[in-house]
Amino acid sequence: MNVLNGLAERILAVEAPGGPVARLSVVVPSVVTPGEAFAVKLAAVDEKGYPSLECGEAARPVEGPWVGLPDAVAFEEGRPAIAIIEGVSLPDEGTYRLGFELGGQTWLSNPVLVDAKERERVFWGDPHVHTCLSRCHPTQCRSLDFCFVAARYMSGLDWVCAADHVSNDRCDKGKWEAQRRAVKVFDEPPEFAAILGYEASLKGGCGGDNNVYLRGDLEDFVDEYEEGDTRTLSEGLAEEECFIVPHHTTRPGKHGELSDRTYLGPERMPVVEIHSKWGTSEYRGNPNALHDIHEGPSYVQDHLAQGYAMGFVAGTDTHATMPSSYGDDSAHIDRLPGLTAVRAAGLAREQIYDNIKARNCYGASGERILLTGLRIAGARMGSEVPWVFPDMGRDICARVAAESEIVQVDVVRNGEDVFSTPGDGWQAWLSWTDDQDLTQVAFEPRGHFERPFVYYYLRVTCASGAQAWTSPVWLTL
Ligand SMILES: [Zn+2]
Ligand SMILES: [Zn+2]
Repeated sequence: MNVLNGLAERILAVEAPGGPVARLSVVVPSVVTPGEAFAVKLAAVDEKGYPSLECGEAARPVEGPWVGLPDAVAFEEGRPAIAIIEGVSLPDEGTYRLGFELGGQTWLSNPVLVDAKERERVFWGDPHVHTCLSRCHPTQCRSLDFCFVAARYMSGLDWVCAADHVSNDRCDKGKWEAQRRAVKVFDEPPEFAAILGYEASLKGGCGGDNNVYLRGDLEDFVDEYEEGDTRTLSEGLAEEECFIVPHHTTRPGKHGELSDRTYLGPERMPVVEIHSKWGTSEYRGNPNALHDIHEGPSYVQDHLAQGYAMGFVAGTDTHATMPSSYGDDSAHIDRLPGLTAVRAAGLAREQIYDNIKARNCYGASGERILLTGLRIAGARMGSEVPWVFPDMGRDICARVAAESEIVQVDVVRNGEDVFSTPGDGWQAWLSWTDDQDLTQVAFEPRGHFERPFVYYYLRVTCASGAQAWTSPVWLTL
């Protein structure tokens, strides 16, 4: 049952020996069909999220409609308390959470939707992990190998990117070769995808801190820190299949105020990182902002108002090499871990890349919040739709499920919360028609848009503080 191979287990035990168990993480896939076999990933971790070496107990599943679960999963003291149970299934359609008992408590999994017709799956990943190769907080970081092993087995993620720093001479040819080879070693579709990428820092006014993500391989990285901006960075990578993602755009000094020069359009800059452990950059005054904030218009909603058509991703920017988790991060990197949900037909690095590029993705903090059946004016998230009759109502619907109680689901239109619906426990159903005449609220043509435009996205907020933000849908008048 514990299919962790010997080397992966030793990497976890040596690099992140966890103390007493603080919680049990139970991870299931977000979308499956009835009767489809899937894996359940268990990790008993300490208070920082490191896999416990001190767990000698067994975890027992709570009774439910699950087929193929063992009566108990025994952990052994001295070994990382991680287990993978293959061949589990659910016979009937519905939304479920799997409970396991450990240490006198019940721990619930993320929600899984069982649906015979849902063609797209949801794959969770952390696009923004730093390892010791970054030479940034090196004593807190772990190795490149640890990044991939921890993402897959400890955090139960589907994909990850070690987006290490390259600027200020922090990378060289040897380190870059290590990055390229690690991706080849750990990329194992359809179980796990490793994405090649790196962090290209830029100065405030030049686009700020950005990550470059590659569809395939890249012979050598391009760094424009001293003289360039996002545009010269993109030009340096002109031959490559890649895109560039601004992050923590509200950070002072390195701020990501964007201009028509530094915004690169949906091909080269399809998404922005709305949340990381630095904080949330959604709008000024949000409850989880960065500790220090740039004064200028650098929030995601500022960029959307500028006509920059960016969808949303979220990650950790962990400098403790803890993919979508906690670890020994510094005091200013202490918000909830972020993660990105990518909707795709299957799991491979190209499918993750293509669907982020298509903005068919959303960002979340703290939990795998599941958003399905999402349609805004008939379109999926990330779409741009010509809307001929501005006074014709727009139907907005989605079903939401979370690990914890859902407080509310908000519809955001051009920077304004225009509708909210409360959760019903850990689930919520949104169905609303916006009848507002859009000529009254549309933004004037600017940035990417040659016609007046309106954007909509959804924000989910849970009692745990976890949030999710769907990539927007844009209507052009
Ligand atoms: Zn750093
Ligand atoms: Zn970073």
